[in-house]
Amino acid sequence: MSVSHRDFVSPGKGCWASVSDRDWNDWHWQLKNRIHSLDQIKKLLFLSPEERRGLMFAAKEKLAFSLTPYFFNLIDPHNPNCPIRRQVIPRSEELVSMSYEMMDPCGEDKDMVAPGLVHRYPDRVLLLVTDRCASYCRYCTRSRIVSGVGGQKLETDDKLPFDYLKNHPEIRDVLISGGDPLLLSDARLERILRQLREIPHIEIVRIGSRIPIFLPQRITDNLCKILKTYHPLWLNIHSNHPKELTLEAKTALEKLADAGIPLGNQSVLLKGVNDDHQVILELVTKLIRCRVRPYYLYQCDLIQGTHHFRVPIKRGLEIMQRLRGFTTGFAVPQYVVDGPGGGGKIPLNPDYVIGYYEDKVLLRNYEGKIFSYPVGQNNAKGEENYDRQSEAGV
Ligand SMILES: *Cc1c(COP(=O)(O)O)cnc(C)c1O
Repeated sequence: MSVSHRDFVSPGKGCWASVSDRDWNDWHWQLKNRIHSLDQIKKLLFLSPEERRGLMFAAKEKLAFSLTPYFFNLIDPHNPNCPIRRQVIPRSEELVSMSYEMMDPCGEDKDMVAPGLVHRYPDRVLLLVTDRCASYCRYCTRSRIVSGVGGQKLETDDKLPFDYLKNHPEIRDVLISGGDPLLLSDARLERILRQLREIPHIEIVRIGSRIPIFLPQRITDNLCKILKTYHPLWLNIHSNHPKELTLEAKTALEKLADAGIPLGNQSVLLKGVNDDHQVILELVTKLIRCRVRPYYLYQCDLIQGTHHFRVPIKRGLEIMQRLRGFTTGFAVPQYVVDGPGGGGKIPLNPDYVIGYYEDKVLLRNYEGKIFSYPVGQNNAKGEENYDRQSEAGV
């Protein structure tokens, strides 16, 4: 049933065959030639009525539609349920909101301490530096501020967030996100990194970016040269389906890894995209071949107009249960839900503890076999031996 996507395949130029390799591999060309309207995409793809309505309305008032030609070519035009297509082509379902869905599902606005700066956890912050991405994910958790068509505008500032950071010595970790920070020019990105590095108590900097997936051409030698100047610098990418890991993406990720940047991946569990343990297994094993360690698997945030993407937590836990033990330990991400309304990430784990008893804890392994582990008693033999040894001066 599910097709294997184990190989790294280039999507090729498709209907842009007449474009020179030089242009095609130039990230500026890819950005300039993005598909962003119904008129453009209907010439390239046979659209369903739901997609037409989504492109007419959701893309205008909720979250813009935009697609790099490179990423467009990953869509299978013959499969209306293509997992790539579902992530990026608007649908009419986005216009419907459930009572429990929110504009700001992670409660970021209430923790915003300076323009673009979210301080929720004791020792680390989220710094939003742009509201634009190379392409837009239809389930975007920040659709209220991203892409320029939503209800709110992202405030940014060149000075205020850095002043706050300078005055808060407890902050040792800054996560730069947006929007997509790697969409900024080399010069702007370097200025942000330099400003952060001027603050002595900031130990690590991390970047969250989907650019290696949407626009791998952006990962140039010069960008890597800049990034490696600001170590320790970590980077988390966002991929959801093994098909996204193309030859181009792999090359980009290898370049970043060769620049000494530890790479992680964040996925979102999405109905019709990756709500299948085989798909997640192929994704995570392919990620580690690209030297990317799976970090989080997110339960889809309660953003307005995303009910068609939502997978029950119970199903997510079943998928997790079919990963742990069945593949490389460090290929298994942590499944998390961002506490609705704010509260931070809450880990979700399958239950491996069957019960706590007076003398033992009963455990279950990945195959469902039962094991018993004794509860350590204070009158254990080891302690007597220890006392005798102390008396003897050992
Ligand atoms: C996710 C997040 C972080 C980083 O969390 P980690 O679990 O350390 O990766 C920091 N601040 C905010 C507001 C976040 O949402």
